[in-house]
Amino acid sequence: NKPTVIIIGRPNVGKSTLFNRLVGKKLALVDDQPGVTRDRRLGDATVAGLEFTVVDTAGWEDDDPASLPGRMRKQTEVSLEGADAALMVVDARAGLTPLDEEIARWLREQHVPVVPVANKAEGRAAEAGVLECYNLGFGEPVGLSAEHGDGIADLFAALWPII
Ligand code: GDP
Ligand code: MG
Repeated sequence: NKPTVIIIGRPNVGKSTLFNRLVGKKLALVDDQPGVTRDRRLGDATVAGLEFTVVDTAGWEDDDPASLPGRMRKQTEVSLEGADAALMVVDARAGLTPLDEEIARWLREQHVPVVPVANKAEGRAAEAGVLECYNLGFGEPVGLSAEHGDGIADLFAALWPII
């Protein structure tokens, strides 16, 4: 049975772009509008021979942590039950936001290994944002660019020991 890896994060950090990058097809909808991924999507990923099922989610549709939409969050919780690992994606250019911290807090209560992923990390401008991800408390962050395809080898190195 293939392991399952779930992609989690606030809107617009590039979860669907990463999903598409891992699956190698345009299965997930990518849009500049936050919250375009209404349903979770499953795909088959192969990274350097490591095969897993990857799940794209849209669990946090609202940037206000005080009003986390329960239905979407519930859906993410259900997805997480069958997951062997979670990728917590943040935007390295934007840096950590209160909603990122809220999601991290929630993830720490779930019983799944978490890899912190700092996306949009192409170029020097993102370096500080990648380092900031140590503060999420999940260990060494993986800096990558889902759009450009950089850093996928580092993601593999972080994933293979845990799935
Ligand atoms: P989601 O809401 O988390 O699923 O985010 P999307 O995958 O829909 O992407 C949101 C926006 O970020 C889109 O405009 C993407 O083109 C952009 N984006 C995604 N990955 C990257 C990246 O690696 N670098 C940059 N600069 N932009 C990215
Ligand atoms: Mg999406």
